[in-house]
Amino acid sequence: MEIFETIGSTQHEQVVFCNNNDAGLRAIIAIHNTTLGPALGGLRMWPYGSEQEALDDVLRLSRGMTYKAAVSGLNLGGGKSVIIGDPRKDKSEALFRALGRFIDSLNGRYITAEDVGIDVNDMEFLFQETNNVVGVHQVHGGSGDPSPYTAYGTLQGIKAALQWKFGDQEVGKYSFAVQGAGHVGLHLIKLLREEGSKVFVSDFNSEAVAEAVETGAEAVGLEDIYDVDADVFSPCALGAVVNAETIPRFKFKIVAGAANNQLATEESGDELAARDILYAPDYAVNAGGLMNVSIEFEGWNKERAMRMTRTIYYNVSKIFSIAERDEIPSYKAADRMAEERIDIIGRLKLPHMGKPHRFPGRERTHAC
Ligand code: NAD
Repeated sequence: MEIFETIGSTQHEQVVFCNNNDAGLRAIIAIHNTTLGPALGGLRMWPYGSEQEALDDVLRLSRGMTYKAAVSGLNLGGGKSVIIGDPRKDKSEALFRALGRFIDSLNGRYITAEDVGIDVNDMEFLFQETNNVVGVHQVHGGSGDPSPYTAYGTLQGIKAALQWKFGDQEVGKYSFAVQGAGHVGLHLIKLLREEGSKVFVSDFNSEAVAEAVETGAEAVGLEDIYDVDADVFSPCALGAVVNAETIPRFKFKIVAGAANNQLATEESGDELAARDILYAPDYAVNAGGLMNVSIEFEGWNKERAMRMTRTIYYNVSKIFSIAERDEIPSYKAADRMAEERIDIIGRLKLPHMGKPHRFPGRERTHAC
């Protein structure tokens, strides 16, 4: 497909190709939609097999950010950036500072953050060239590790699903199968155990499993997690784990977790609905990390981050209401909620204020 045809088909506003021979930089910044606000989304560094692969990835990820921000009630649009390169051997100060200058040239239309292959040192180099960076270290007024907020937000999404499905949100009454005890999964397990829930856990990493078991969770095999007799399945590791092979094994009543892209296909979402298994859409449930970084511009503090993260309960409940209203599966209802918000806010026009606006430094000196 031709480039303009590709970005036209995904309705992207702007795609910026960044090249700097001296720094060895080849990067793409994709701005999907800025109706609600500046496009925010992380920077990924990956040894893509081809330029087309990098373009496809950045287009897909930036579009996803538009939906996540919209459904989360944030005044942000969707964007993403990718560097083509191997994060283990192609990093340098010049590389990130060169990209920082490209990001700065967009004057705040795109705000970046950390993603796969990027660490806090890389963010520091970007920050030397542009203020349009979030998720920087707390010494720079940043919000630090987002995982605890993602986990806390996931718990809010779980509560909304319990309320919708069972009519109460007494987390301790229910049992959970948590796949992945990494940054988010382990925090979530701790929160669930504090409420007194029965928790089953699986992870590749035996140290992660041991930490989870210390909280009182019960370890199960990597494949056995899909067969556990628990009320809620909480994917917190990989995408595409809800698929044609796993769904028939589910005894779960709810799927609600932090992992991105949990549904292998749209049919997987239809199948969950057909089996009356309530799916809390991943990008609404795992928005705590995004919410956390989004308040850096207003001045981050923990209380504000926790308050905002609690709105995930309301967002997920609203998705379920739309699914019921329109008789559609919840994954489609999430997209619809995002699109409706972008549409209505995009069409808002303030009433005329009676006087022309005056911008500092732009006062007219004579009639023209
Ligand atoms: P992480 O890498 O810290 O943890 C993932 C864990 O999953 C690791 O312990 C890994 O060993 C384990 N794992 C991998 N494959 C597995 C398998 N087949 N079965 C069981 N365990 C397996 O990552 P994280 O930051 O905790 O993120 C978890 C998920 O949540 C990812 O999908 C991520 O994209 C998503 N997410 C994270 C955040 C955040 O704030 N960190 C925000 C939004 C979404």
